[in-house]
Amino acid sequence: MLNHLCRHVWSRAIPFPKISGMQLSNFSSLPETHEMLRKTCRDFADAELKPIASKIDKEHLYPHKQIELMGALGLMGIAVPEEFGGAGLDYLAYSVALEEISRGCASAGVIMSVNNSLYSGPIDKFGTAEQKNQFLPTFMTGHKVGCFALSEPGNGSDAGAASTVAVDRGSDYCLTGTKAWITNGYEAEAAVVFATTDKSKKHQGISAFIVPKPCDGLSLGKKEDKLGIRGSSTVNLIFDDCPVPRANLLGEPGMGFKIAMMTLDAGRIGIASQALGIAQAAFECALDYADKRQAFGAPILKLQSIQNKIAEMALRIESARLLTHRAAALKDEGKPYTKEAAMAKLHASETATYVSHQAIQVLGGMGYVSDMPAERHYRDARITEIYEGTSEIQRLVIANAVIKEFKSMVM
Ligand SMILES: Cc1cc2nc3c(=O)[nH]c(=O)nc-3n(C[C@H](O)[C@H](O)[C@H](O)COP(=O)(O)OP(=O)(O)OC[C@H]3O[C@@H](n4cnc5c(N)ncnc54)[C@H](O)[C@@H]3O)c2cc1C
Repeated sequence: MLNHLCRHVWSRAIPFPKISGMQLSNFSSLPETHEMLRKTCRDFADAELKPIASKIDKEHLYPHKQIELMGALGLMGIAVPEEFGGAGLDYLAYSVALEEISRGCASAGVIMSVNNSLYSGPIDKFGTAEQKNQFLPTFMTGHKVGCFALSEPGNGSDAGAASTVAVDRGSDYCLTGTKAWITNGYEAEAAVVFATTDKSKKHQGISAFIVPKPCDGLSLGKKEDKLGIRGSSTVNLIFDDCPVPRANLLGEPGMGFKIAMMTLDAGRIGIASQALGIAQAAFECALDYADKRQAFGAPILKLQSIQNKIAEMALRIESARLLTHRAAALKDEGKPYTKEAAMAKLHASETATYVSHQAIQVLGGMGYVSDMPAERHYRDARITEIYEGTSEIQRLVIANAVIKEFKSMVM
């Protein structure tokens, strides 16, 4: 059934429509093709991800088999062109699919998100034909995953202060320094890495490289013991005189910061979608419990204070979803979307935290123990307010954009 649906959605029999931000403000449901994709991913998540989500969380297990199945469904490179092994769909499709996958398992969601937006995205946009042929097709199958290495122990939000250096030696660059918190870092077989090639130019002296893994001069730190998304790995990448062929420079020397910022703009739509999936899962858990739990002779769902929570959760999820789809649609149209992606990520991540917090309240004592998924959703939600730019940084991005718009209006 799943395969059939996928073939149906992803065959070119039904043209995949591009949706504009304008149209999005009018419609009340997704186009048929995107709805079919949603159903495919939802069925997959219910069958393959929900049943393992608790175990991989408790045992810190990377879900190898499930990621391979996601690769077979075309979910590991949704917006990558078909000629490089991707599904060749749009970013709205990516957002819809990632929400459903994250609803089933937030760890699978972040693994998918990093491979799609942070690893494949910049290679697809800035890579040469040789780089795309070497570093994309085999990473679309789920058998290999990539990672993105920007943060360092000394700088996360202040990404332009990279202290990892890449010395130009002619035929290659030699990388030295430590990249911190790298999602998929343990399993990844290639990394998009940012390093300073000219310190005097500050952030304009940062360059991007594609580094195959394993390789000489690259070792891994310990796996971080995290609050949530525990089925995904997070490690330091430690470069010590690591030679990287000149052919693996991504874009021009000095373009690295621009590549990183453009990649994160797109990545934020992914994290907003992951947050939506977590929020939706927590919401459904709360609704289901409230319907079954009896107190004072009736289901607690009939209590007005519980209904107030349900209404607030539904409102926040729906508004976050609209913001996320709008940002994706703007990207698909080739329009600016930096502010909209930041708004989507900020609102969706705070919604995930709020909804999962309220879900625990609705479950009472059962919300606090790991027999029920509510406490996992609460732990998983928290990271969406931190990675790919904290909530404070999203507010800076939004304020800068709004002030610029205001000044251009009054000038
Ligand atoms: C589980 C996990 C996975 C991650 N995966 C990746 C990955 O795959 N690749 C990668 O490169 N990085 C990754 N990161 C790193 C992540 O992007 C950073 O942790 C994040 O950007 C914040 O940086 P920081 O931790 O250094 O915090 P800091 O930058 O030190 O910030 C600390 C606090 O100060 C605030 N702050 C900082 N600057 C400002 C400012 N100008 N205005 C207002 N407030 C400010 C922050 O919002 C935050 O509240 C991951 C992190 C985690 C925890």
